[in-house]
Amino acid sequence: MSSESELPAAADALPEQLDHAGSVALVGRPNVGKSSLLNRLVGVPLSIVTPKVQTTRRRLAGIVERPAAQLVLVDTPGLLPAAASALDRQMMRAAQSALADCDLVLLVVEAGRFTPADERAARVAGAARRPLFVALNKIDRLADKRRLLPYIAECIAPLHAAAVYPVSALNGDGIAELEAGLIAALPPGPALYPPGQIADRNWQFIAAETVREALMLRLHQEVPYRLAVTIERWKERPGLTSIDAAIFVAKESLKGIVIGRGGEVLKQAGSRARAKLEKLLGRHVMLRLWVRVRRDWIDDAKAVAELGAGDCA
Ligand code: GDP
Ligand code: MG
Repeated sequence: MSSESELPAAADALPEQLDHAGSVALVGRPNVGKSSLLNRLVGVPLSIVTPKVQTTRRRLAGIVERPAAQLVLVDTPGLLPAAASALDRQMMRAAQSALADCDLVLLVVEAGRFTPADERAARVAGAARRPLFVALNKIDRLADKRRLLPYIAECIAPLHAAAVYPVSALNGDGIAELEAGLIAALPPGPALYPPGQIADRNWQFIAAETVREALMLRLHQEVPYRLAVTIERWKERPGLTSIDAAIFVAKESLKGIVIGRGGEVLKQAGSRARAKLEKLLGRHVMLRLWVRVRRDWIDDAKAVAELGAGDCA
């Protein structure tokens, strides 16, 4: 294996065999804060977050490195009661495949709430037959913390989780304890990703998602759910990354809504996405957006895969 030309391993490289290495699938009903938790644990806003359901469409792993440990957090689309479109079916497959591949399952719920949709998500999480952990997220919203104990006894204890962590992805409460608990439960083994890598996706993926996030935050009703974003061109210039992104809408009439009067919607979403990308990449970004129509793409499995809404890559 080794040859004289080979560089010695960097001093900060992870050792071959770690005390704890493995992956955790974050699952739950839509909107409980799975993506926010991943971002808080990794310390970088890799996964897009909006107040709307169905923000996350594809699985995305964020990687946390600690001394002698690597924790791979796999974000998934929210578990839906029924899949109506090709896009819905694709999203459910993304969640199921994360559950099939992981070492541990982290079921995310909102502290103090346990709806029928949470119950269904818990059943899916339990069916993975992996050690189950539960994060009670959004404790910052729980006015009366005394409600937590009866809530856990009634709704959470029947899940027979290995551990339950009250947390807030918003303000960071309980996050260190959650991280320590997950890491301790991971088996020894080799690192899953090279040292320094923070995501299993490339920047093009994250940039396309960032554009979609900005549009979802700016648009209403059914429009945000009928958009897909792909990167058409990515060019590194000295001191500047130049990006062309295409926004696909499912019908002609949505085009004008996405562009907005005088291009206002597109302009606002573009500048929001650009600001976030500049922070993520640590470089100046030039972002150009194009709106295109791909009729009924949501109901077309091939289009879902092509427009980067599929779980390929
Ligand atoms: P996901 O659909 O489960 O991935 O949920 P997101 O991470 O997209 O979050 C859904 C909404 O809940 C967003 O508006 C977040 O800002 C909000 N949210 C997430 N975590 C917290 C939290 O700890 N506290 C509060 N108050 N809001 C949160
Ligand atoms: Mg999400």
